[in-house]
Amino acid sequence: MTPSATDAIMATAQTTQPQQAEPFVSIRNLRVGFRSGRDQYVQAVNGVDLDVARGEVVALIGESGSGKSVTLRSILRLHAEKRTDMSGSIRVGGQEVLTMAPNTLADFRGLVASMIFQEPLLALDPVFTVGDQIAETILRHESVSRADAMARALALFEQVRIPSPERRLKAYPHEMSGGMRQRAMIALALACRPQLLLADEPTTALDATVQIQILLLLRELQRDLGLSVVFVTHDIGAAVEVANRIAVMYAGQIVEEGPVEAVIREPKHPYTQALLYSRAHGRMNKGDRLKTIAGAPPDLSEPIQGCPFAPRCEFAMPVCRGESPVETQLPGYHRARCFLLSEGAQ
Ligand code: SF4
Repeated sequence: MTPSATDAIMATAQTTQPQQAEPFVSIRNLRVGFRSGRDQYVQAVNGVDLDVARGEVVALIGESGSGKSVTLRSILRLHAEKRTDMSGSIRVGGQEVLTMAPNTLADFRGLVASMIFQEPLLALDPVFTVGDQIAETILRHESVSRADAMARALALFEQVRIPSPERRLKAYPHEMSGGMRQRAMIALALACRPQLLLADEPTTALDATVQIQILLLLRELQRDLGLSVVFVTHDIGAAVEVANRIAVMYAGQIVEEGPVEAVIREPKHPYTQALLYSRAHGRMNKGDRLKTIAGAPPDLSEPIQGCPFAPRCEFAMPVCRGESPVETQLPGYHRARCFLLSEGAQ
């Protein structure tokens, strides 16, 4: 990709942190499939490998249905177990999540890793005040008094900059604005001082100005608390604003992953390139049209032969329709899954 198409979105890019020897999160060959009642089977995630170092922010980007949220929710095992098949390995802080006993999993959720959801109105309980919900979360995991738990809830509200925090602790979710609810959701997620924060499109439901405020708050909290963050978004600008590394997902696979600078300035996979050219950028002239990605993502309930992006890829070769590309490791902790990168490819 030419620099002209990327300058604007790189203006706020984060400094890339080097990879560490022992990642805090290590996902290997994760496969997640869903069974439906009509003999349908959807292979939503198909062999994902991903590492997240301590204090690192990784953004998962891609179109709807690419497997981003399914991957994220798998880290907390939030999928309905009766209709979900999961295999591979998810290790967080040295613990294997996929085989965790129920009691250990209950402690893991909240104490080690917690989630910020896209729509806090659905995630928060409508019949309890937000203060009570935060205090209950603390009391469930820690031996502290209710007064201490409420004091922590107040401190968290101050930390996420909710105005008039003492009054807002007594509010019900429907009495708050969207931005304030999302701040309350972040406070709830941080209640038990987790080391890993998972954020599933945390700004999608918000107005543009509030989105920026929430992104800046997340970035600040991540730095202050040294959190590892995995962040799902379809907004590349948001990913650049918050993340150290970007993983691009398509059809349940990571097709490209690397430091923000590398992926945005020199995307190697045709899908990443198409995603970047399909958004507004700084050197567009008046009247220029955005490029679109022709076609639609594949139906994941059907077997996929070859590269899943082949029907939409302007560079597709005969081999792409018959064989699956393997990952190519590129310099600078950058990798991509495309035959164009294979040795000897034209
Ligand atoms: Fe395009 Fe082939 Fe690369 Fe797939 S493997 S992205 S079809 S060039």
